[in-house]
Amino acid sequence: MDALTSGSHRLVHIDLKGAPLRVSYYEKLFPLLRAWGATGLLLEWEDTFPYTRELAAIGSNGPDAYSSGYSAQEARQILQLAGDSGLAVIPLVQTFGHMEFVLKHEEWRSLREVPTFPSSMCPSNPGALPLVKMLIKQIVTFHPDIQYLHIGADEVWHMGMCAACSKRISTGKHGKAGLFLEHVMAVLHFIKETYPHLKIIMWDDMLRSVDASVMNEYYIGKYVEPMIWHYNSRETFGLPPDLWDRFGSVFLNVWGATAFKGATGSCQHIPTITHHLSNHERWLEELSMNVNKIIEFKGIAFTGWSRYDHYATLCELFPTSIPSLALCLKTWLHGYNEQTHVQVAKDLGYIEFPLLITPQPRPIPIPSNLQYPGWQVAVGIEWYLNYKTKFHGLVNSEHHSFHRYVTRTVSSRKLHESTNGPDILQFNLGRVDWHKRLSAEE
Ligand SMILES: [Zn+2]
Repeated sequence: MDALTSGSHRLVHIDLKGAPLRVSYYEKLFPLLRAWGATGLLLEWEDTFPYTRELAAIGSNGPDAYSSGYSAQEARQILQLAGDSGLAVIPLVQTFGHMEFVLKHEEWRSLREVPTFPSSMCPSNPGALPLVKMLIKQIVTFHPDIQYLHIGADEVWHMGMCAACSKRISTGKHGKAGLFLEHVMAVLHFIKETYPHLKIIMWDDMLRSVDASVMNEYYIGKYVEPMIWHYNSRETFGLPPDLWDRFGSVFLNVWGATAFKGATGSCQHIPTITHHLSNHERWLEELSMNVNKIIEFKGIAFTGWSRYDHYATLCELFPTSIPSLALCLKTWLHGYNEQTHVQVAKDLGYIEFPLLITPQPRPIPIPSNLQYPGWQVAVGIEWYLNYKTKFHGLVNSEHHSFHRYVTRTVSSRKLHESTNGPDILQFNLGRVDWHKRLSAEE
């Protein structure tokens, strides 16, 4: 296993959806990732990328862009910093599902598979492929030194629902799988023709239930390398039992993807490190059992999701997950044991306070001085969670009047059925009233 894990790629996924990091942060982060054993980055720009011309509206140059998106100069600086640290960059650009950042714009709305949902694109729409080509061209042009491109293609939830796609499914030889493969193959052919030097990766989930014979009919194995993702801990880990055999008979190279954050809850504040360690340990077992079924294992991506999709809430902020990432990288390379834990904890500055990997009853003691970039954010979130616990303890204990009052206020105004401003304002005014009343009673 050592040769397998240390002799293959180890990519850290930087998911910029909703939480792009400052450029100055990468100056500190990238050398650490390299020191901890990473060989590259899986860089998911989404709407933080400085798209130009026809695509300007969807990225950081757009009129309604997040102010925290990157300028072209900043984006180039990030790539330069990655190169300076010896980290290869593999950009990820979505080409089928998870296209919310594009399809939410009026200009691209007509390309939705389902008019009310902006996630999936309709592959039967004549404008779909030209859009994908534009996205890929701008991304590849901006990354002149890349060897790999990741085309996403995961979780295409609304596939085959419009009239044209339904017809293709009912009349096509391979139904839904055929519809998916035809679009993906069109994307793959375009990339291979335009950028013959590029190797291509895609997420595996839409292929997990497709017969090997069907995949081979499309020759997909000649064009792309699947990245098998699974983020569960040992208790619920479960890839299809024949997956490795099937992929082994279709693809030359196969990748894996674990998670160090962003996989245990869409509102998670800090990672449950034991979950992520268990995920990595189980992946190591999975590989040792199945690697003989594939030709080459190319490497692993340590995914760190910022949010579950474009519209979802943020989950763990990157700095809160540095300890999890460091431990997962070490576990991947050397296995998890007491010695690994002690060394990582020491390197991160957990000297007087332990580096906890299991959730503890709060409030917990919190360190005041650590040694990794963004530790202040991590400590701030810990303080917040301590206060949150104290607050809930207060309102759920002897102060029943507060609990009843809030419940009555919410119920009477039917706040749970409404999200408009005046109601929320009334709710907050109610809380101020309660505070005044409580003060008067005291
Ligand atoms: Zn369609």
